[in-house]
Amino acid sequence: MHDEKVRLSAFDWLNELSLRYGDVLPWAELSSGFVLEGERVTLIGQKGIWKPKIIDRYPISITTSVGGPYKDSMTNDGFIAYAYRGTDPRHSDNVILRNAMRDRIPLIYFRGLAIGKYFAAWPVYVIHDDPGRLAFTVAVDDHSLLEHIERTSEQDWDSESVLIRRRYITTEVRTRLHQRAFREVVIGAYSERCAFCNLHHPELLDASHIIPDSDEWGEPEVTNGLSLCKIHHAAFDSNILGVDPDYRISVREDILREKDGPMLRYGLQGLRGHQLILPRKRQDWPDRERLGERFKRFREAG
Ligand SMILES: [Zn+2]
Repeated sequence: MHDEKVRLSAFDWLNELSLRYGDVLPWAELSSGFVLEGERVTLIGQKGIWKPKIIDRYPISITTSVGGPYKDSMTNDGFIAYAYRGTDPRHSDNVILRNAMRDRIPLIYFRGLAIGKYFAAWPVYVIHDDPGRLAFTVAVDDHSLLEHIERTSEQDWDSESVLIRRRYITTEVRTRLHQRAFREVVIGAYSERCAFCNLHHPELLDASHIIPDSDEWGEPEVTNGLSLCKIHHAAFDSNILGVDPDYRISVREDILREKDGPMLRYGLQGLRGHQLILPRKRQDWPDRERLGERFKRFREAG
């Protein structure tokens, strides 16, 4: 089947999926794919550089799997580094990806965040090949380009303005990717529960920072996070609730003196002196030093 038709249908289908799931898509959907004129199009598979059977020449997606080295996926100039398959630049997977670079073919980039959960960005283009480092450089570009896929062969492909646009979009995507990764690791560590009240509804949970994120492109640090329900996240951020370095919850003095309905009474005042509900794994527990620092600010607010 015609490559461009498959590719555009794949992008349309991804749009539909992201309306349903948001930024983080389930492996099961991506690997079973969709049906186009009676033939199945899969978007992800066992190999990082993925070409579904239905198309011949170029891959459709590139995937960095869960637990891969996070920092390796960034280049110094603001793009995504994508490691070769193996160490042989002439491996057939590396060759078809290089062909996609030469022919300016739009691809999908998947980044595993947790088992079965993938962040997706598209269209992405391979813009540089670095055999010395056994890696390609990948840039995210504007969705609107896909309406005129032939425009991607435009003359100014390598111009400064195109580079600036791609760097801007890639930076935005990386920031979003980092936020989603943080959410997945933190909420996952707490078994999808609120650390204050035990609420077990992921759709009502946030990953909150103990100390605001200084290194937004760095490794998402679970020990700087707390899985909190929406109300407790807001209460923690506005210093109505605090957590001391011994994992004990405090309630601000003026809040304790208020009188109101059950949310105040049970949802806030009732947490006083409770122990934080901690992650199963010891290494995921919140960093006590950061908690101490944050608790000082809570005390000052009271
Ligand atoms: Zn809660």
